Amino acid sequence: MLFAMAQKTIFELDLIKLAKWHRRSTIAAITILISFVVVWIGTAIVLVYGMNTTSIDIGFWIFYILVMLVSAALVFPTHRAMGYGLFNSLLWAILAFLIPFLVLLSIASTAGLILKLSGAKVGMFGVSRANLDHIRPHHCRQCGYSREGLELFQECPECNRVPQVI
Ligand SMILES: [Zn+2]
Repeated sequence: MLFAMAQKTIFELDLIKLAKWHRRSTIAAITILISFVVVWIGTAIVLVYGMNTTSIDIGFWIFYILVMLVSAALVFPTHRAMGYGLFNSLLWAILAFLIPFLVLLSIASTAGLILKLSGAKVGMFGVSRANLDHIRPHHCRQCGYSREGLELFQECPECNRVPQVI
């Protein structure tokens, strides 16, 4: 279906892939936010000292176009990893181009929520590499131990966690 919102359920998602794109989107959002502050302070200094404003305009537009491109480039794969169809992901990438940063921020927070609901430990910069094992298929959600060969509801030999249905 062309207009389906999500093609996959939360249980069918590749969480490792989602965690990686979420991490990239989150780091990009933080970087853009810091850059905004730097550009704002820079502009204020330039204006105070009465320098040539043409270079500020050019600098601002280069920065803005860069934010548009980065936002669109990250929103598309993050949407795909969240289980959205090709059409929807493209639509969001276009939206990210029109409203850069805010769309990227909202997508990063939605992806983070999906990861949290899936039992991942989501920090400020997303799921850390050390915690990726926790959301790998057939691994313990609590300690990351491989559950290969164990019964479905058998408790984890490492941390004694009993797997939950949800
Ligand atoms: Zn465990």
